[in-house]
Amino acid sequence: MPNVNPPYEPMVVVNDFVFCAKHGDEYCLACYYDHRFTNNVQIEDKIDDNLKENYSMDERPSFNVYSHGAIRIDPAGESCKCREHDKIDCESCFNWLALVKGQATQAQRDAAWLESKQKWYDKMGQ
Ligand SMILES: [Zn+2]
Ligand SMILES: [Zn+2]
Repeated sequence: MPNVNPPYEPMVVVNDFVFCAKHGDEYCLACYYDHRFTNNVQIEDKIDDNLKENYSMDERPSFNVYSHGAIRIDPAGESCKCREHDKIDCESCFNWLALVKGQATQAQRDAAWLESKQKWYDKMGQ
């Protein structure tokens, strides 16, 4: 169960989302971390149910906080600032809700596209 993490493992908290401190991953294979479930709790009420139809929050692509420009303020601390604005918990660099919504919207589009393709194949008898 990757969700059961010892609480003393180093992590960073950026705009309410938790990441492994060493690699910056939400879902980190190296650390056996999966923080996606914890992080999803922060945003799932703000995402429409119909957006979740073809998108699994628990299986979503994991974010890497360092690839979003996070820099640790203190090597022992949990806070990060963004490289671009030098701001802790920057709402534009670390807007996880918008990023997840974007992923979910894309998943919806892909599903709709597949469905229309399938209808077309059905009509063509393939
Ligand atoms: Zn890690
Ligand atoms: Zn920023």
